[in-house]
Amino acid sequence: MPRIIDLLRDGVPNDRAIAQGWVRTKREGKGVTFLELNDGSCLSSLQVVADNQNFDEVLLKQITTGASLRVKGLLVASLGKGQRIEIQAQDIEVFGTADPETYPLQKKRHSFEFLREVAHLRSRTNTFGAVFRVRNACSFAIHKFFQERGFIWVHTPIITNSDCEGAGEMFAVTGLDLPKLATAGKAIDYSQDFFGKPTFLTVSGQLEAEVMATAFTNVYTFAPTFRAENSNTSRHLAEFWMIEPEMAFCDLEGNADLAEEFLKYIFSYVLEHCPEDMAFFQERISDRVMPNAQKIINEEFQRITYTEAVEILQKSKQSFEFPVQWGLDLQSEHERYLAEVHFQKPVIVMDYPAGIKAFYMRLDDDAQSDRPTVRAMDILVPGIGEIIGGSQREERLEVLEARIKAIGQNPEDYWWYLDLRRYGTVPHSGFGLGFERLVQFMTGMGNIRDVIPFPRSPLNADF
Ligand code: ATP
Ligand code: MN
Repeated sequence: MPRIIDLLRDGVPNDRAIAQGWVRTKREGKGVTFLELNDGSCLSSLQVVADNQNFDEVLLKQITTGASLRVKGLLVASLGKGQRIEIQAQDIEVFGTADPETYPLQKKRHSFEFLREVAHLRSRTNTFGAVFRVRNACSFAIHKFFQERGFIWVHTPIITNSDCEGAGEMFAVTGLDLPKLATAGKAIDYSQDFFGKPTFLTVSGQLEAEVMATAFTNVYTFAPTFRAENSNTSRHLAEFWMIEPEMAFCDLEGNADLAEEFLKYIFSYVLEHCPEDMAFFQERISDRVMPNAQKIINEEFQRITYTEAVEILQKSKQSFEFPVQWGLDLQSEHERYLAEVHFQKPVIVMDYPAGIKAFYMRLDDDAQSDRPTVRAMDILVPGIGEIIGGSQREERLEVLEARIKAIGQNPEDYWWYLDLRRYGTVPHSGFGLGFERLVQFMTGMGNIRDVIPFPRSPLNADF
């Protein structure tokens, strides 16, 4: 059966049609009732015109905002502005009513904070409808981009015992009856646990993606990741989706090239396939949405080194909250200054100090200098700051072993990861993109909790 998007686009006056959906609004005219019916297929609703004398009064009363209906009727040209076609109802079936006394989504505008408390219903609003359609289009475009280029989608484990160099605080996974142990006053013995050792929800699929890249050359993950970071920010979730491509025979420049091509592709795809939703964000959420998207698509990303970034920040005479000094990590305010104010476009910062980056990032040739750097890159965008973090990986066995030791870890714990360097090692690179950060940037939504249907954040795991 055609959806409302099809009727609005292809419907011709005098066609018979059936439309099903939920009532967004109801308006009374002279002897007629006007309904806006939405089925989630697009932002626009289909206007239903019901001649009151053709319908039972009781039935008409049942129809209020939130009710679900099937309408049969005739399509007619619409006189109302903003719509080409509407449906003249001949038969209306009410599936479910929605008591206006209690149904939370009434006509007035609701705050996003309030809508988070009714996350099971918020997808029926214009904003969340648009967000989740764009999220869907992004997901599809991501797979399309990689599949067109011969990348293999690999599934990396959710339960893991490696902590990916502490990319974030981890959630423990256990089969032990902890309350029982506590009551009995017993210590936790992980050898008695399900896996015989401590396990966690993964914070990143990178290490396993590297395994797969050294067999398939080009792979990507697209999966949930979990971080128990107790930071109540507008850009952190406890459960979020990550995209992590990993490429063998690829250096940092190749990595940056792919990341730039990737972002351009995703934005072009979404602009082409969700023009109505994107126009809505531009008009109702942020007037930076379209300019940002155009910049991503049309402008070459600025590439600078970390050292250059520090110089720019120091010369800027801005009063930042956090200090700018070679060897310290860039904070969000610094990242945003670079992308928003200084370059006014996406910026790729490369070659970070080794001391602030992960052990697996490849040491640069300046390793012997007093300011050694690693082949890391972050992509910064206006409004958000970091959206992508990536690196060329250390492929030299001895160097990698030494770095693991230097951070106080035991190389034996990384035996299989080191085997990749022991057998057929190859230069390789990859990056991680937080999917919700991408959707946030694309839609202009201020809070990351509003771009995932069921957000998980400190003290919030409802729905
Ligand atoms: P940040 O400094 O913003 O916390 P990070 O350095 O911890 O990010 P990475 O470990 O490099 O991030 O993870 C790769 C990408 O995953 C980031 O660029 C970001 O887009 C996303 N990301 C990281 N943490 C979160 C989170 N808690 N919620 C949503 N997305 C996240
Ligand atoms: Mn983090």
